[in-house]
Amino acid sequence: CGIVGYIGYREAYPIIIKGLHRLEYRGYDSAGVALNDDEHGLQVFKKAGKVSDLEDHVNGAEYLKSTSGIGHTRWATHGEPSDRNSHPHLSGNGKLSIIHNGIIENYASIKETLLAKGHVFKSDTDTEVLIHFIEDIQRNTGKSLQEAVRLALNRVVGAYAIVIANADQPDELIAARKGSPMVIGVGEGEYFIASDATPIVEYTQNVIYLNDNEIAYIKRDDLLVKNIDNTIQEPYIQELELKLEM
Ligand code: GLU
Repeated sequence: CGIVGYIGYREAYPIIIKGLHRLEYRGYDSAGVALNDDEHGLQVFKKAGKVSDLEDHVNGAEYLKSTSGIGHTRWATHGEPSDRNSHPHLSGNGKLSIIHNGIIENYASIKETLLAKGHVFKSDTDTEVLIHFIEDIQRNTGKSLQEAVRLALNRVVGAYAIVIANADQPDELIAARKGSPMVIGVGEGEYFIASDATPIVEYTQNVIYLNDNEIAYIKRDDLLVKNIDNTIQEPYIQELELKLEM
């Protein structure tokens, strides 16, 4: 239901939690974060319940003071609200992490194929199927993650806004959308990603509204947007009218 991502020079976790609180008005049943850095790889915390329950869960744990991460509030469509069905979800090899708003309509047939190939799933969600599918394409084709995401999205039916973090490339987030909104906030040496501008406005007024069928490859100081047919798009940066009332 709600998406927040950050890549830059500040500590990601507090930015993500604050952003998830700002998206609480949308309604949700679970929340989670994945933090990512060179040394430790991906660290995932997730909990059914409120964002404050997630915070309680993280408090007392050693969490990564990383400068890149993703966070999610879930409105369950496939799989009951529970800790294990909460996002982020991981690929089978644990290298990729995804948050997702929306529904992958053809997940059941993709899941069947992946199960036959030996994939083991930890949740009942359509989302986990997508990240396993991407990993599977990456392994089978030997292509980059960037390309595997694009190929997978060409095979997916449904609506989505997704953000993917990669343990092997913590300097990049990959975001894409079709039918679910997604905004990218453009800072200096940092980018913010969210399902609407409310988590972003306090940091920057410059935003890009991603269009349907676009994939954004986001590094701290670089943004590349492609259409899923592989044509490079010229992102349009617009200034928000919206100011935050603190
Ligand atoms: N379909 C996904 C799930 O049930 C995402 C739901 C959402 O948009 O929060 O986990």
